Amino acid sequence: MPRGDGTGSAGRGPGTGRGLGQGGGRGRMGGSGLGIGGECVCPNCGHKTTHQAGTPCYKVKCPKCGSPMTR
Ligand SMILES: [Zn+2]
Repeated sequence: MPRGDGTGSAGRGPGTGRGLGQGGGRGRMGGSGLGIGGECVCPNCGHKTTHQAGTPCYKVKCPKCGSPMTR
């Protein structure tokens, strides 16, 4: 796993889970909470973000306050 690029902050590097793992084809990723993995919730401020496949919530930081997200 190439996890050494980037700053390791946002957890959403370029080319993450594209073509690998999802069986090909990103059919409908509307981008508003519908679809794959559900949501990650910030325990600090309550901000919700869409869970990204291949990226655990605890590796995603809240875009608002920077705390690690949880489910
Ligand atoms: Zn937050």
